[in-house]
Amino acid sequence: MSEPSDPLPVPPELLASVPTPAYVYDLAEVRRNHEALTGALPAGAGLYYSLKANAHPAVLTALRERGTLPEVCSTGELDAALAAGWPAGDVLYTGPGKRDEEIDDALRRGVRLFSVDSAHAVEQLDARAERLGADARCLLRINDDQPVPGQGLAMTGVPSQFGADTRWVLDEPARFASRPHAEVVGLHLYMGTNLGQVDALLGQFARSLRTARTLAAALAEHGVRLRVLDLGGGFGAPFAAAGERIDLSGLRPGLTALIDEQLTLLGRELDDTDADRPQVVFESGRYLVGTAGVLLSAVLDVKRSHGKDVVVLESGINHLGGMSGLRRLPALNPHLVTGPAPDREGGLEALVAGPLCTPLDTWARSARLPALRPGDVVAVPNVGAYGLSASLVAFLGHPLPVEAVVDGDRPGAAPALTRLTFERHPAEPPHRPAPDRDTADLGVKW
Ligand SMILES: *Cc1c(COP(=O)(O)O)cnc(C)c1O
Repeated sequence: MSEPSDPLPVPPELLASVPTPAYVYDLAEVRRNHEALTGALPAGAGLYYSLKANAHPAVLTALRERGTLPEVCSTGELDAALAAGWPAGDVLYTGPGKRDEEIDDALRRGVRLFSVDSAHAVEQLDARAERLGADARCLLRINDDQPVPGQGLAMTGVPSQFGADTRWVLDEPARFASRPHAEVVGLHLYMGTNLGQVDALLGQFARSLRTARTLAAALAEHGVRLRVLDLGGGFGAPFAAAGERIDLSGLRPGLTALIDEQLTLLGRELDDTDADRPQVVFESGRYLVGTAGVLLSAVLDVKRSHGKDVVVLESGINHLGGMSGLRRLPALNPHLVTGPAPDREGGLEALVAGPLCTPLDTWARSARLPALRPGDVVAVPNVGAYGLSASLVAFLGHPLPVEAVVDGDRPGAAPALTRLTFERHPAEPPHRPAPDRDTADLGVKW
């Protein structure tokens, strides 16, 4: 960390013009990531971008312009996708539990493709679409029998809110067949996240394709024809630590051959022609945007405590990695951007903390750092995905970081600055009347 040779993700002269705390996103890097990923996928495959990784409008626009499709999980993400210019017909709406109101809202705005995670979810979509006179389509999300080795977060093969177990669909295929207003058009097999090896990715996709064949045969008997196979992704990326985009260039040949072989078998098993082959699509969040973001944060205090150096930054789990509060994230080693001046000697072996009033707001228990002083600025690389979007922004009520967009392909342009804000508004009346409560029933005496 902070070796002079460490490349800064964004040119220093650009960083100097951005107030801290700030996220800086480089659109040129988003484009490079997109090119690297599409180059690793079979020609003609579709690619969804998961907005939960980073829904900044400029990032979304850059990805839309490259032909990526939006995968959203909430009304807010749908707003962001439509505002970035995607037509509602391009949207895939996913998530393991959906409120009637949000499905209605999505249908009214023209969304037609949903991922569903249970038999109830098929019925729910059918009922909502019928009420609105719409015809929806759905992908059945599958929780396969086994976890995939090498995953960051296991999402299949374990008890999970995600998807219907393969076994369940095989046992009761009729419950997963099309309804009058919810046509089952495909499968959604997102197995997990953050796979960094081509072999692990191929193993995962091989298993997904075999599962898809088994399910296709069972569902075909109930009139379901698979037109879309969403094979998920899980393409890994470095997070909040130095590192480069993972080289996936070896993936394409093996993956192309695998898909070709498995879809040929599937076609034979179903007596289909080549023309009926399902469209294969993939999904990614972190690979597309992870390396495109850096967090700049100023040093607020430096002191000694019980024999240890302590550095307090203006950002903590409120600005980066609320998930670190869940002890999910690696200890972080920030890069130094400004200072220390040449006259400073020595270094620190420091506990690095954010400004929040909880000991959970700790970046590192013991990080080797240069001799920092208040006012210095450090940079945390590779936080373009799950940075601000995954943080505990309301906790302690500090202002949110500025978000600055730069474009390495247009080095002269000044960074465009925006800031998210949160306000309290009066709530809408409840959708359901609150039950009449007799205070005596609750044992409360006023
Ligand atoms: C979160 C998510 C993704 C993106 O995951 P990454 O690890 O960021 O690529 C893709 N698909 C689904 C269904 C997800 O929930």
